[in-house]
Amino acid sequence: MDQNELRLLENRCIQDEPPECMAACPIHVDARAFAGHMARGAGQDAWKVLKKTMPFPSILGRICDAPCRDRCKRGKAGQAIEIGRLERACVSTPAPKQRIPALPKKEKRIAITGSDLDSLTAAWDLARKGYEISLFDSGDQPGGCLLAMSEKILPRYVVEEEIRELSALGVDIRLNAPVRDEVFHGGMRHDFDAVYLGVDHIAALRDENNGVFVYGYFQNGSSGSPVWKAAEGRRAATSIDRYLQKVSLTAGREREGPYSTRLYTRTDGVIHLSAVQPLDPVLGYTPDEAIREAGRCLQCQCLECVKVCEYLKHFGGYPKRYTREIYNNASIVMGARQANRLINSCSLCGLCEAVCPEDFAMQTLCLEARREMVQKGRMPPSAHEFALLDMAFSNSEQFAMVRHEPGFKTGIFLFFPGCQLSASAPAMVKKVYAHLRRILSGGVGLMLGCCNAPAFWAGDENLFQAEFSSLRDRWNGLGRPQIILACSTCYRIFETHMPEAQIISLWRVLEE
Ligand code: SF4
Ligand code: SF4
Ligand code: SF4
Repeated sequence: MDQNELRLLENRCIQDEPPECMAACPIHVDARAFAGHMARGAGQDAWKVLKKTMPFPSILGRICDAPCRDRCKRGKAGQAIEIGRLERACVSTPAPKQRIPALPKKEKRIAITGSDLDSLTAAWDLARKGYEISLFDSGDQPGGCLLAMSEKILPRYVVEEEIRELSALGVDIRLNAPVRDEVFHGGMRHDFDAVYLGVDHIAALRDENNGVFVYGYFQNGSSGSPVWKAAEGRRAATSIDRYLQKVSLTAGREREGPYSTRLYTRTDGVIHLSAVQPLDPVLGYTPDEAIREAGRCLQCQCLECVKVCEYLKHFGGYPKRYTREIYNNASIVMGARQANRLINSCSLCGLCEAVCPEDFAMQTLCLEARREMVQKGRMPPSAHEFALLDMAFSNSEQFAMVRHEPGFKTGIFLFFPGCQLSASAPAMVKKVYAHLRRILSGGVGLMLGCCNAPAFWAGDENLFQAEFSSLRDRWNGLGRPQIILACSTCYRIFETHMPEAQIISLWRVLEE
């Protein structure tokens, strides 16, 4: 497998895809992790999740209109999680002390007008990247419409505190600026390397090739949604940074803003639960209400295969991770230890593929890795030794035999009990054979031996092919009778490797 094939295979497993809430959030807050911390009552950890992606969390956490709700998977089993209300509950508690890392200073200067959430976000993001930022506002206090909101929803001191943090980052805030004045505007274009216009009715001045950027709801009609304004400011900051770095304005930005996610999360069988209603809707959730509401989050993930497979569970991961480990084992350390147990412990049953929404076949991956190890002489003998010795015994003269039913020179049927049933319950095999001879007419032959599954499981293709073709020759020698198989492994082996044979399960014969 080369790197490309590896990536294609890894991408088939969608466990690492983001949950719907995160994909739907315009700024991609990890609402799953956030809700997980809130459910444990770990408010400080929840705070940290918000701080990671959310600009001005004390502000936005209080006023986000939560478009993520529309896609929340909990909605299919009750009501969507009230992430907006949970964020409000979280940011109403003191924030953890965290140092804000900023990149080394850059030479370039950027002017930003307006001080609504889009402008503030653009200023925040660009200042953290090390640019010198001047923020011009026409008012005598920065904060725009944020300051006009009800004190109960967004207290003024919260806005002032967040703006103080912006200043602490080095943003130069200039008030009472004539931001709509054409002469002032011309001056900004002359004095700065890029300009972001965050005030309405000047969207027509957008000229990205010459460093004038206009985003925000003025430009995109996103009807005043606070989180959309922040997202637009972030988008502008990315464009400005790229413009100043002289790299493509568009490449690799497909997942900016809401996008669709491939993550599969099963919701059938999940008990329906409605959202927790806060006793005081204006004040929002109490800590206890927040814990209960966050506890409804499904912590969306796929893991359908892990749920049904002890082997996948045992190794503590899931196929996407295992693919990389197995590849590294084969290609980098050449089969030396690390993933040997992982590769050799899969029973190759194919149940994972049957339940996987993407048909990921762990058994194919493990089998190919085993074959490669055998070819390169890297398969440790201990991995399959016992089963291979057992197979050798079952195919030896001490055990193997083939014959027509006594008194018959031909036969319509052939009973193949397989090595496991014969070894563990020989008396039962004798009884079943006698029974088959009684109920079936036309001759029931008997073939004792192993279907050679151990060689197949061990990835030893040469051994498997050699032994299986000798088994096929013996069957041909009997005139190709219909084979009655007592073991499900034998059934699979014959079904896959001897499609020309007519086979039937012993259990079906007994049923009829
Ligand atoms: S079922 Fe397993 S292999 Fe398939 S996508 Fe889900 S986690 Fe990945
Ligand atoms: S409430 Fe808002 S910020 Fe939080 S995850 Fe949802 S859309 Fe994103
Ligand atoms: S149930 Fe939880 S993880 Fe799933 S989409 Fe909703 S908030 Fe996100």
